[in-house]
Amino acid sequence: MVVNYVEIAVKEIMEKLIEDYGYCKCEICKARALAMTLNDIEPQYVLTDAEFLAAKASFVRPDNYAKLLSITMDSLRKVNESINHDIQLMAMKNIAV
Ligand SMILES: [Zn+2]
Repeated sequence: MVVNYVEIAVKEIMEKLIEDYGYCKCEICKARALAMTLNDIEPQYVLTDAEFLAAKASFVRPDNYAKLLSITMDSLRKVNESINHDIQLMAMKNIAV
């Protein structure tokens, strides 16, 4: 399985920020903020447990974590300043493999 470590880290940070700042908790707002954030950060794909742990170790470094936090915060702020619940999230059946 291929996992983008950054996506996991961002999701975790997002949950905390949404709770702390009272941002909208719906799936649409979370998906918009997640997409916006991930488009702004280079992904880090990992395949093995060792790679996963190495990625995790690199993201607990204060400079990396601060960057992730600030980009995630920006996205959440932007999404919550212009909430749009009138969109249809992509259905998995539309994804060709
Ligand atoms: Zn919402």
